[in-house]
Amino acid sequence: MTKYIFVTGGVTSSLGKGIISASLAKLLQARGYRVTIQKFDPYINIDPGTLNPYEHGECYVTEDGAETDLDLGHYERFLNTPTSQSNNITTGRIYQNVINREREGAFLGKTVQVVPHITDEIKRNFRMLGENGEYDIVITEIGGTVGDIESLPFVEAVRQFKWEVGSGNALVIHLTLIPYLAAAGELKTKPTQHSVKMLLEYGIQPDILVCRTEHHINQDVRKKIALFCNVNINAVIESIDASTIYDVPLLMLKEQLDKTVLTKLKLPNKNEPNLENWKDFLGRLKNPLSEIRIGLVGKYVELPDAYKSIIESFVHAGAKNECKVKVITIQSEHMTPENAVEKLKGLHGVLVAPGFGQRGFEGKIAAIKYVRENNIPFFGICLGMQCAVVEYGRNVLGLTNASSTEMNPETPHPVIAMMEDQKNIKNMGGTMRLGAYACDLKAGSKAAAIYGKTHISERHRHRYEFNNEYLKAYKEGGMTPSGMNPDNGLVEIVELKNHPFFIGAQFHPELKSTVANPHPLFVNFVAASLAYARKN
Ligand code: GLN
Repeated sequence: MTKYIFVTGGVTSSLGKGIISASLAKLLQARGYRVTIQKFDPYINIDPGTLNPYEHGECYVTEDGAETDLDLGHYERFLNTPTSQSNNITTGRIYQNVINREREGAFLGKTVQVVPHITDEIKRNFRMLGENGEYDIVITEIGGTVGDIESLPFVEAVRQFKWEVGSGNALVIHLTLIPYLAAAGELKTKPTQHSVKMLLEYGIQPDILVCRTEHHINQDVRKKIALFCNVNINAVIESIDASTIYDVPLLMLKEQLDKTVLTKLKLPNKNEPNLENWKDFLGRLKNPLSEIRIGLVGKYVELPDAYKSIIESFVHAGAKNECKVKVITIQSEHMTPENAVEKLKGLHGVLVAPGFGQRGFEGKIAAIKYVRENNIPFFGICLGMQCAVVEYGRNVLGLTNASSTEMNPETPHPVIAMMEDQKNIKNMGGTMRLGAYACDLKAGSKAAAIYGKTHISERHRHRYEFNNEYLKAYKEGGMTPSGMNPDNGLVEIVELKNHPFFIGAQFHPELKSTVANPHPLFVNFVAASLAYARKN
């Protein structure tokens, strides 16, 4: 039977429930268990696809084309297994399902209420991934903080679920904060006590407390927490600030979080976790032989979470190259052809980020012109690739005022244009070209050499595309379309021959980079930037 672990959070937000969930899952996976993680978000949006990145950071897209919370990215990067729509549920989706069923008449004249109908639908979703025998353990992260009005139905559903499946089949891990009061020179347990009290009020006794702290928690503090929160002392787990999120699985191993979980779930403590590859990665990450500076040009740079997967992909690719990658964020809105030299000074490579809308578009074009002309390694992702096409059209092919119709619907040269099947779409949510699509790489191209094969599949999230009416002009003018969708002929990758590294991808490689499998495009971009650094 599948076992269920719920992860709740107390005291404050941003304690890192996603990383704790991913780290625990990693340890259980490394012991041979089949584990998955799902996230329940208490907001009303059906999914984060329509959210501005400034709200909740990047929107993470799964293989099946779901637009999801960025924590799913952590799950995939840690576990190296794909997630799907079923791994991210919001309050909006729960209500939508219930309301649709109400309209169908499925409730047979009953009054539809938060309890039991909403909580039943939540529980149905808790169970979903565990039902087909694919997983031994399902970890469910409950977004938000216990005590928030909006997470109440989720907390109530956890209470009911735990009672229904019985002890030994489900447990609750509560993540809390142990603040340090410098004036008193003490770690304070009271916020944790209050947070647990609140959970108890809702009928949930947490089984394990994971305590975020800036200082080590000594035995006395552990005893105190255990006594006042009703848990075993070995269920008080310290989660001390780490220099990298990738340290957390090892920190949790030291605290025996995995062992405590297995004992409580009455699962055999089989094999010690095999973390050889993980440790090897950490060794490389922490002992770089060189250092490079990569510019990340985008318009959401004030909130680095907006580019989470890109930043993590650089961590993976850096470790692979035994090179520390310093990512310098640059606001594209403030870039101009005049200040590009100044802003890009000292960089060994430039990545132009994905994005939507006009703001910062011309800045991205200015950055690309500079790196193209100065042989600085360039990597463009989605909008970044589209900008590279526009820049090349304007400045090399002589297509005056070339643009994307997203930015200028009146452009005389719509080298990037809306996809045909996007033109009649009115709804914004979930209607882009989303998820995994096949791509054929041109034999002999840089892309094919980088991937080491000619058939690939990558994830997408866009409405606009390379306009194939200009294909001939670009080919003849020196920009090679080196990746094409075999089914509809859409251009997926463009590259320049006479440049050390100039690649634009219409898809999002950053969504598939994991600790176990750093993405080849990032690995090679870092290698090219390193080569540039050595030469200059
Ligand atoms: N705005 C562009 C499009 O919709 C690029 C999207 C992106 O960068 N994800 O095609």
